[in-house]
Amino acid sequence: MSDVRLSLEDVRALALRGLIASGISDANAAVIADVMTSAERDGCKSHGLFRMSGYCAGARSGRVDGKVKPTLHDDAPGVIRVDAHHGFAAPAMAAGRPRLAEKARQQGIAAMPIVDSHHFAALWYDVDALAEDGLVAFAFVNSKSFVAPAGGIDKLYGTNPMAFAWPRVGKPPMIFDQASSASARGEIQIHLRDGKPIPEGWAIDSDGNPTTDPEAGLAGAQLPFGGHKGAAIALMVEMMAVGLTGGKFGFESAADVNTDGGPSEGGQMMIAIDPARFAANGDSGPALRHAETLFEKILEQDGTRLPSDRRYEARKITPTEGITIPQSLHEACLACCE
Ligand code: NDP
Repeated sequence: MSDVRLSLEDVRALALRGLIASGISDANAAVIADVMTSAERDGCKSHGLFRMSGYCAGARSGRVDGKVKPTLHDDAPGVIRVDAHHGFAAPAMAAGRPRLAEKARQQGIAAMPIVDSHHFAALWYDVDALAEDGLVAFAFVNSKSFVAPAGGIDKLYGTNPMAFAWPRVGKPPMIFDQASSASARGEIQIHLRDGKPIPEGWAIDSDGNPTTDPEAGLAGAQLPFGGHKGAAIALMVEMMAVGLTGGKFGFESAADVNTDGGPSEGGQMMIAIDPARFAANGDSGPALRHAETLFEKILEQDGTRLPSDRRYEARKITPTEGITIPQSLHEACLACCE
């Protein structure tokens, strides 16, 4: 099958049509379409249009409420809680982000727990706007069980990504955004779709044997990155995203009936820090300039780059050249529009 070329405007229009046709409100669809379009713009294929069928199926089955409006709860001077009311996470993030930033500027640090929501996007999107606004930011998100704990063979943790963003003067933020599994689940699904083996170390089969077969890996369990160290990060993400918010641990949402391929119910936590409040004179300039010396030292070494540089390179090209997706994916997106 040949690939289909789309401009970023085409991507957003296609996403909007499919989301709205699936019963998602115009306002929520606009936020989710922006998330998917940004992922395509930045070359993050596993979180762009590839996710559209899941968003649409989750809304169509009624498992996720696509029309609901999130509500904000000012629980404490440094905490703004967002109740997504069983909706998608992206509109909840968008609704709470300005208040989180405001509180971080007032307090120096603030947190935003998000409850009763469904997230399966890339996390860098969630911290990008805060860092563009001059704030240091963290995001923690859990998902239903896919990953075995260190030494075990049964799925327990979600793929549990975390992201960290650092603002830069005159440059886009440095952001790392990584699953605590050896790979994102979407990457294994893409290998399955493309008929390619997965690298060793990504997954084990249902009997606990190492596998490079994507189908066996999806049926078995994914592995944390770096053995027990990645497993500890997965554990921390469950605690930050769920233990503190009252959401559902990976094993709890895995027990829910979810056969539509959409996002599972979990929890999220965002933390924002205003570097100006950590400076003696309220000026973040010296700290941000000092940070640049570390980035320079990293880049002095051959073979290095900063996390997020790959995305920023893609961002230079896609607005003019557009993106390509497999025809099968294009057809799946068009099917969502019916
Ligand atoms: P990767 O392993 O591809 O990348 C992790 C991070 O490392 C990125 O910030 C990446 O930057 C950076 N990086 C990669 N290579 C280098 C290098 N050579 N030098 C410096 N930095 C580097 O990501 P994952 O597969 O772990 O995760 C993919 C996506 O899946 C993430 O966006 C994550 O949020 C998402 N995800 C979402 C889930 C959900 O439930 N919502 C669950 C799990 C994952 P760059 O982007 O520039 O390559």
